[in-house]
Amino acid sequence: MPLAEPGQEPPCETESENLGREEGATEVIEYCPICGHGPALGYASFGELRSSFEICDCCGCEFGYDDNLTHFENWVASGTNWSNPKARPLNWSLEKQLSHTIRPWPPAPPGEKA
Ligand SMILES: [Zn+2]
Repeated sequence: MPLAEPGQEPPCETESENLGREEGATEVIEYCPICGHGPALGYASFGELRSSFEICDCCGCEFGYDDNLTHFENWVASGTNWSNPKARPLNWSLEKQLSHTIRPWPPAPPGEKA
């Protein structure tokens, strides 16, 4: 007769941890949506990011001002130069970084037609 089996804890422990999270509010934006540089940021929402007017160390866009695809295209056309060269990692890979970009960008505000 088994005295104490290892599986006596509630099986849904990890699931219940997620219950307190609000959908859509959990994902922290750590990467520049334009060039994918990061993790360097820490905004809770696109709105927060775009009202920060922070300047990306990499592509040099100013969030909420010229964080658009024209800026990105110009940045690529001019040779993907770093706005703040000191922030550039030694093993920087543009290709890897681009996987963090967000398209389309800027995101259309809710209820507004793009
Ligand atoms: Zn950027």
